Amino acid sequence: MIIRELYVKQRHLPLRVPFKTALRTAVDIESLEVMIELENGLTGIGAAVPTWVITGDSSESIKAALLGPIRSAIIDEDITNFKKVLKKVQRCCIGNTSAKAAADIALHDLYARLLQLPLYALLGGKGTIETDMTVGVDDPDVMAANAEKSVKDGFKVLKIKVGNDPTLDIARIQAIRERIPATIKIRLDANQGWTPKEAVRLIREMENLELGIELVEQPVHARDLEGLKFVTDRVNTPIMADESLFSASDALMLVYGRYVDLLNIKLMKCGGIDEAIKLASIAEANGIACMIGSMMESSLSVAAAAHFAAGHPNIKFYDLDAPLWLVEEPEGMLYNGGNIQLVDVPGLGITREKEW
Ligand code: MG
Repeated sequence: MIIRELYVKQRHLPLRVPFKTALRTAVDIESLEVMIELENGLTGIGAAVPTWVITGDSSESIKAALLGPIRSAIIDEDITNFKKVLKKVQRCCIGNTSAKAAADIALHDLYARLLQLPLYALLGGKGTIETDMTVGVDDPDVMAANAEKSVKDGFKVLKIKVGNDPTLDIARIQAIRERIPATIKIRLDANQGWTPKEAVRLIREMENLELGIELVEQPVHARDLEGLKFVTDRVNTPIMADESLFSASDALMLVYGRYVDLLNIKLMKCGGIDEAIKLASIAEANGIACMIGSMMESSLSVAAAAHFAAGHPNIKFYDLDAPLWLVEEPEGMLYNGGNIQLVDVPGLGITREKEW
């Protein structure tokens, strides 16, 4: 069954409220959607978002990579040679992980539709997972109110953004802890906002105050691997790599050198589901558990991340709340508090009109 065409469409999606981290404030997203069509008219869809401060990809670069080298690599290929086609996407150009992720997602959707299976079933999983809810970085009282609301909305795990003003970070977590039950898990994401010494001091203080922190994501600069290890070796709280992890070779380095305790996999960083499976398996072989995360993305690419996560036994943590931040309703996933139920139809469970 031959791949005939690849189409790209840009969608502008406003957020309900601004999303603030130590790296950026987002009020909307641009989602680049890709549709791949077989000779018999069957289509698969995928998506990518530009995240300048993390992947360096822009809307223009994603579009150019999809319509240039990626399109050339897969047109006239046989989709039933599935893994080979996925490899061609990865090898057709350097970098451009977001564009590669969009194509990889569309190919997975297409292949699962061809086989008439939900993608999670094709990947070997069941269609349910439980996500955390993110609390953006802000004044302590604002964050505490947002945390309390998320708990009322049914979330049992909160991911708290910190790191843009280290002098406030302890007060932020204390304020949140005072307003939510002790049974609610708290994980932190500093988005590279601390120096290694600052991270050790702050995490040890949180340990002494018994604030119940499950894990801390990316405490220091993405490229400062020695700094990451410095922190990992000096605190009891598990440390997770996010912005330090893009490729399989990054994963090998991080797990082999024990730079961190945990990895955060995102499709936009690694280039899609096929690469994500590799990353999670590398970590699994070294006894390191993984989280599935996303950028601020649309349902289309977050659903792909959810299908992957449902099918990989080494994904132990889930951070897939992005669609709940959008004005438009989530697609392909039914959210009930933190519970996500993937729809039981072939592929990703999301459809688009063919007129692109
Ligand atoms: Mg992160």
